Parts: sequence; structure tokens; C-alpha cells
Amino acid sequence: ISQLYSPLNFFGTYYRMIQQNFVDMEKMLDLFKEQQSVQDVPGAPDLKVTEGAVVFENVGFAYDPRNPALKNISFSIPKGKTVALVGPSGGGKSTILRLLFRFYDVGSGRILIDGQDIRLVKQESLRRNIGVVPQDTVLFNDTIFYNIHYGNIKASEDDVYKAAKAAQIHDRIKTFPDDYQTRVGERGLRLSGGEKQRVAIARTILKDPAIILLDEATSALDTTTERQIQHALANITKDRTTLVIAHRLSTIINADLILCIKDGQVAEQGTHDELIQNTEGVYYEMWQKQLRDETDKIAEEIEVSNT
Ligand code: ATP
Repeated sequence: ISQLYSPLNFFGTYYRMIQQNFVDMEKMLDLFKEQQSVQDVPGAPDLKVTEGAVVFENVGFAYDPRNPALKNISFSIPKGKTVALVGPSGGGKSTILRLLFRFYDVGSGRILIDGQDIRLVKQESLRRNIGVVPQDTVLFNDTIFYNIHYGNIKASEDDVYKAAKAAQIHDRIKTFPDDYQTRVGERGLRLSGGEKQRVAIARTILKDPAIILLDEATSALDTTTERQIQHALANITKDRTTLVIAHRLSTIINADLILCIKDGQVAEQGTHDELIQNTEGVYYEMWQKQLRDETDKIAEEIEVSNT
């Protein structure tokens, strides 16, 4: 029984939870370095990022050998471009992001950043160059200022305000009771999902990585919040290599390449315009469903504003 309460065990459990849910992994990794499940090779050099180009080369991976999660995945993201991952639940989208962050090592194939196999470089240097905007950001029980500043503790006060503005959260913070000194988190002001995601975006803007991993929120957002988030995302993904798990129309349309991931494989790929040509395809069907959902949402909002 006492084992259940040992801190290491607790952190271990928490770490696994983070790995699975892709929640605030950067914060976790900083705090519990010893819990990492992949090890650096002795004398591993730092990753040298020149462009931030990402290549998946025949990548296979299995959490359980009887049931491969990814089979032979290949794609590349040139410098500054955006690749969107879409597809049914359990298809393997999050696993692709986890492998690029090197939560796990690939089972077969390779992942390269600017030509360097990510298994052969220092994890710390890999993660320093990758910004993560998770679906659900866990805030520290501290001020909103601290929560943004955390993205780069060397950043100036002014940089924090600039990042908050670019992330479309500054004006909202100005309405908080103590401005930037307002305490947030479990024991402070509770922020909405859309607000928390913008805090994560502000943090990432401060971190200024070459590569961004983004897990879009699935939860329904009202049209204004949606617009603010899109604006904020456009600000961070511009000129950065981006891999995004997309749930919403706008991201999909603008992506340089869309991969439909199904049963651990790339079922279809192309740009939005290319993919909607195939009226028999998975993407076409998803797109039609999204259009119907969007129409319903707008109708609902009009109804609410009329009452
Ligand atoms: P969703 O859209 O629901 O988030 P996804 O496309 O991101 O799904 P993954 O989370 O990558 O899918 O899961 C791919 C497969 O791997 C699924 O069959 C899933 O059950 C399995 N899987 C995911 N995480 C683990 C884990 N930690 N241990 C064992 N199996 C896992």
C-alpha cells in the first residue's frame, strides 16, 4: 500500500497520463527528467536546426506488438510548411506527434529533422526546438503573467505582453481583477478551454521554436473564440514547420498537405482542393459532415442571439 503513495510512483503515473494525453508534456518533462522512457545515446550531440524540415521515413510503431499503431508512415514537412493530420479516432494521429517529440522511439523507419535522426541527438535539444500546443493546458497555480512567462524565463516583461497580444489573450487579461497579476489555475481564476489554449499559444510564441506540434481542441467553441484562436494560431504557425491534429475546417483548408490517417496508415493525402475531388474518399465524407455541423452551429447561435 505504501508504494501507492510514494512520490516516484505518483510521478510515474502522472507521466504516463501525460504521454497518453499529450497534456502539457513540456512542463512535465522539465520537472521529472528522470522519468523519461527513451535514453540518449552516450555522447549524443545537440540537434542542429537550420530550417526545421521534418521527414518521416517508413515509420512503424506499436505500443503492443500484437497491434501496430503505425505502419509504414512516410511524409515530409518542408521548412515553414503545415501538415494537418485528420482521420477517425484511434487512427494514430497523436502517436505521430508523440514520436516526433520522442516520447517513444520508432519501431522501424526513421524520423529526421534537418537530416538528423532524432534518436541520435540529445532529447533536451530536440525538445527545445519543438513547441507544443496541447489540447488541454494545465495551468500553474500562479499569476497569468507567470504562466505565460514560463515559455521562456529569459523573456522580458514587454515580450510577455507582446506574446499575449499575438495570442489574442491580452485584451481578455486586461479584464481580469488584477490584470497580469491575477492568479489562475485550480486555486485561482478558472479559464475556459479556449482561453487556456491561447495561454499555451502565448507560451509557445515566447519559446520561439522552429517546429510546432499542435493538437487542436475538439470542444465546441463559439464563433468569436474560434476566430480569436484561428488568428492566434496563424501568428505562431507562420514561417514555422507545423504538424497539427486538425478538427476544424479552417486549419484544414490552409494546410500545405493533409494526411488522412486510418488504421495506422496514410489512407489519403493531398491538399484540401485535391482531396474534395474524390467524392468516394474518407476526406470528402469528413468534410461534408463538418459543413453540416458548422451550419447547425451558426443556426444555433442566430437562434440564441434572437432570444
Ligand atoms: P484520437 O483522434 O481519438 O485522439 P488518434 O488518431 O490520435 O485518436 P492514437 O491515440 O494515436 O489515435 O492511437 C492509435 C492506436 O494506438 C489506437 O489503437 C490506440 O488504442 C493505441 N494507443 C494509443 N496510446 C496507447 C498507449 N499508451 N498504450 C497502448 N495503446 C495505445
